[in-house]
Amino acid sequence: MVDTKTQYLNIKTEIDSAIQEVLDSAAYINGKPVHQFAEALSAYIGCKHTITCGNGTDALQIAMMALGLQPGDEVITPSFTYIATTEVVALLRLKPVFAEVDPKTFCIDPESVRKLITPKTKAIVPVHLYGHAAPMEEIMQIAKEHNLFVIEDNAQAIGSTYTFSDGTQKKTGSIGHIGCTSFYPSKNLGAYGDGGAIFTNDSSLAETLKMTANHGQNKRYYHDIVGCNSRLDSIQAAILNIKLKKLDEYNAARQAVAASYNKAFSVNENIITPFVAPFSNHVYHQYTLKVDNEKRDGLVQYLSEKNIPSMIYYPVPGHRQKVFQGMSSDVTNLEITDWLTDRVVSLPIHTEFETEQLEYISKEVLNFLD
Ligand SMILES: *Cc1c(COP(=O)(O)O)cnc(C)c1O
Repeated sequence: MVDTKTQYLNIKTEIDSAIQEVLDSAAYINGKPVHQFAEALSAYIGCKHTITCGNGTDALQIAMMALGLQPGDEVITPSFTYIATTEVVALLRLKPVFAEVDPKTFCIDPESVRKLITPKTKAIVPVHLYGHAAPMEEIMQIAKEHNLFVIEDNAQAIGSTYTFSDGTQKKTGSIGHIGCTSFYPSKNLGAYGDGGAIFTNDSSLAETLKMTANHGQNKRYYHDIVGCNSRLDSIQAAILNIKLKKLDEYNAARQAVAASYNKAFSVNENIITPFVAPFSNHVYHQYTLKVDNEKRDGLVQYLSEKNIPSMIYYPVPGHRQKVFQGMSSDVTNLEITDWLTDRVVSLPIHTEFETEQLEYISKEVLNFLD
């Protein structure tokens, strides 16, 4: 699905020397690269504060802890997302409330969110799924009306730009009260291990987030709040410093792959290629098709026989996961989410494609679906 090896080989000299520098410095935790990276990322995203942490799941958890959400508080999230988004809600004894998504963008549907708001609702977690932005303008409006927090799950869309109706643009992750992201190796900005970050423009919230990620302390050994231990290490930060400079180029390479797939598949009416809403650009963390229910599983099987990987993200939506039965709300009737779950299939997409590889994949997809 991805080719992190070739990408590494293309930047090997720079990466190897950055890693060696950290090894020589012996500042493996909280070293200079960690601070440099947090600063560079704030500038890139366009937010005041970046707090780095251990992974994207921790980022979401720390965000919910720092906002002071209490057991029983309701958090509205899409069901159609990776488990990390909803799992941390349950872990903190909050109540996940599953919203429906837009069948075109795969992202949370504001109308569905409105219907789910109760006096217990405290936060909304929109997910910029597959690299397409959630409808943030409407989500922020709803949040304002009901005095709710918005935590963006930007794990799949780092570098993506959101355009507001007045024409202003912001990077996803900088729009909500808090933005969260992941540097898992296959993400658009991937480390060579785990990593995550939290974004905010609120300075006092930034302080609480920082403390929460660091055992609840501001001053060493003086613990004021309940925290956890979640860190981005210096080696990963040094790697990410190099890769952040290439992120726009990498996202453009993904967009070129998507354009090539789109062109190839435009001839076939059995294939619905990714939609891009006017407010979003798309950074294609995934390139996800919708194909007929009956043919989808056959396609996955056929491609695997041709040595072409493909994946279903995700085979079981949140509201149908065993873990959430009885825990979430009564809302289990998510027809669009179920419809999408039966039809989505993601093709390989990364920054290092050769034209022939891409043509081979497109040709085989068309072979099966024609
Ligand atoms: C990857 C991912 C996460 C979690 O990131 P980790 O670094 O793996 O913990 C959270 N949400 C979404 C949507 C993701 O894709």
